[in-house]
Amino acid sequence: MPRLRDVLYSGQITEGEPVYEFERRFASFVGLPNILSFYSGTAALHAALIMAGVQSGDEVISTPMTAEPTNMAIMHSGAKIVWADVEPGNGNISPDSIASKITHRTRAIMVVHYGGIPASMKRIREISDMHGIPVIEDAAHALGARYGKAPVGADSEYTMFSLQAIKHMTTVDGGMLACKNPDDLPQGRRIRWFGIDRHAPRTEVDVKEVGYKYHMNNVNATIGLVQLDHISPVIERHIANGRYFDAALRGISGIELCHGDEASESSYWFYTVLTDRRDDLSRHLTDQGIGNSQAHKRNDLHSVFADSRCDLPGLDSFYSRMLHIPCGWWVTDEDRERIVDTIKKGW
Ligand SMILES: *Cc1c(COP(=O)(O)O)cnc(C)c1O
Repeated sequence: MPRLRDVLYSGQITEGEPVYEFERRFASFVGLPNILSFYSGTAALHAALIMAGVQSGDEVISTPMTAEPTNMAIMHSGAKIVWADVEPGNGNISPDSIASKITHRTRAIMVVHYGGIPASMKRIREISDMHGIPVIEDAAHALGARYGKAPVGADSEYTMFSLQAIKHMTTVDGGMLACKNPDDLPQGRRIRWFGIDRHAPRTEVDVKEVGYKYHMNNVNATIGLVQLDHISPVIERHIANGRYFDAALRGISGIELCHGDEASESSYWFYTVLTDRRDDLSRHLTDQGIGNSQAHKRNDLHSVFADSRCDLPGLDSFYSRMLHIPCGWWVTDEDRERIVDTIKKGW
């Protein structure tokens, strides 16, 4: 509160030094050097699509197993969404399916690390390099996740982290975009503020491209700066709870656990179990007062994305069997033991 109060009374509440300091400190926290802040993760994704060169009429390959903002950002760009199927075992976009959906119009590949489990980035990178198509990672669930001992995003052209209210870390609202190429940063800064270079004398700028009002302000950035001092134990607790479930739920009959490839280390934003009698398990947990949900609707069922519909057998399987159980920082040792005991009793 003291720092928030200071910034609110400072007379300087829009984008300024606290925003730039937050970008620098977030960069060193995630271990990705070129970071741009935005007012939301969705805005950051839209900017990334523009920077990747996506234009109206192009195709972007994406996953339907995600929150709507992933795909709404593609709609904002004017591109056509082409669904790739997902792995039935973890809900992440399937590299084989991506490869089969590439056409001469494909301009970007959008990858989501669903629930925090990194997708198969090694294979996705190979496909992207083979065709010269940039990869945009939606890492909204994956702050703190690692792939091949590096932070997620280390190898992709663009990676977005959301700082929305319910993500691992929050600035109330906000989004951070890691760019692999530092030459992208000036364009990113223009896109987020009406196409204008904020640091040039106003009457001397010539606006050459369409820009947006997507910048972060000093108030949200100050919340982020304070959060950075406290966020590591929060993320560590998600991971500790997730690993506890990995060990304690293994081998229970009727339950399958989700995991990524051998390079993948999850940030456990939520914990997904797969089971054939999903609604029965859900009722059993609810009866015992244990929160559980299907966090997202498969996006291909929405009317707004109707033009992209196609057969997705991997998604049919994952979507009919997935159930998310809590594993966040608020889940105590007693809570997680009770969750495991309740599942072990059968449903
Ligand atoms: C939260 C979320 C976003 C959007 O982030 P905002 O900061 O709310 O715009 C994008 N993708 C996924 C998968 C999300 O969960």
